[in-house]
Amino acid sequence: MKKISLLGATGSIGMQTIDILLAYPEKFKLVAFSSGKNIEKTIEIINQLQPELVSVQEEQAAIDLQQQFPNIHFTYGNKGLVEVATHPDSSVLLNAVLGSVGLESTLAAIRMGKTIAIANKETLVTAGHIVMAEAKKYNATILPVDSEHSAIFQSMNGENRKQVNRIIITASGGSFRDKTREELKHVTVKEALNHPNWSMGAKITIDSATMMNKGLEVIEAHVLFDLPYDQIDVLLHKESIIHSLVEYDDTSVIAQLGTPDMRVPIQYALSFPDRYPVKDSARLNLAQIGQLHFTEVDFDRYRAVKLAYEAGRTGGTILTAMNAANEAAVSLFLQEKISFLQIDEIIEQIMNDHNNILMPDLETILHVDSQTRKTVLGMVK
Ligand code: NDP
Ligand code: MG
Repeated sequence: MKKISLLGATGSIGMQTIDILLAYPEKFKLVAFSSGKNIEKTIEIINQLQPELVSVQEEQAAIDLQQQFPNIHFTYGNKGLVEVATHPDSSVLLNAVLGSVGLESTLAAIRMGKTIAIANKETLVTAGHIVMAEAKKYNATILPVDSEHSAIFQSMNGENRKQVNRIIITASGGSFRDKTREELKHVTVKEALNHPNWSMGAKITIDSATMMNKGLEVIEAHVLFDLPYDQIDVLLHKESIIHSLVEYDDTSVIAQLGTPDMRVPIQYALSFPDRYPVKDSARLNLAQIGQLHFTEVDFDRYRAVKLAYEAGRTGGTILTAMNAANEAAVSLFLQEKISFLQIDEIIEQIMNDHNNILMPDLETILHVDSQTRKTVLGMVK
């Protein structure tokens, strides 16, 4: 029985994780989870899985829930995320919280030697060097949840990583893949949220439309698999069937395929090294699909991918600044305060103005993160 702490339980990844835990009560036990502001879903999860500890975003909500459920311990805010992550009974942390707010709780769980199943890519982008160094020091295993990184991880199973020539991360192209940059000028939030292949949270759906999601994933891959950026390529593949590929020195390419269903990589991170059936997940029928398509990425069209490579190659606090600028800009776009193309423009401006610090410590990262968010808000006012 694996005992699980789950951050971001009420989100898209979180709810799919809950489905997996409900399907395998003999294999997994949820001991602690966090949610944000969705109290209705929080209560539903409490009733379904009876955890010992729950953290919500706001203090008042924690007080109200405590009265309703006297046998469960409630906490709140950023310290609550850390409490959930470090619950003494859990051996696995599945981190599916949104944004760099997941960093400190991830580090705290790593320092307890827990296995970290990580969906929260912003944490790896903003402080990848610290996360991986701490994981090594405390012997904590990091398992990818993101479908592309799960595919790469699976395609490296049993292989000598020194013989990897390059990895190829596939990209669906997001909601606007058939539009030119000119045509992006007046697109709406509603249109941007309409992803062709995946149903995900709002922020990552916008990240997919700008393709900053792919940029973040390139950095995530660099961090997780310790490969230089020259050995990380991106390939447009609109069907999202090949989830990513690994090319070896002998030119062999190993890939992982499947119908787009996030429950598969989520469950694999929990069941690793075993594999169990995923309820109602469609089996891949290539004959029915008939054709798969591949196109090179145009870095002028998808400027965010170019910016992410630049930040990645530079390293240091520019990664934090880029990520925080993106989080802040996407949030403003979702509130209809800026246009779609302003997202890239804001990130580029922040990066151009940034005074970079290499190998930053945690305090510096947290400082740059909060300063950048303030600067972005100031730019828009
Ligand atoms: P959602 O927006 O659907 O869910 C985010 C979760 O985090 C919710 O539980 C939300 O709570 C909680 N949350 C948000 N802000 C805070 C905060 N400040 N403090 C505490 N809790 C907070 O996101 P996704 O599930 O789509 O994505 C989660 C992470 O996984 C992201 O890093 C994303 O990039 C990554 N990911 C997602 C994929 C997907 O298919 N969705 C695929 C691969 C990676 P509430 O809703 O209760 O307010
Ligand atoms: Mg992904």
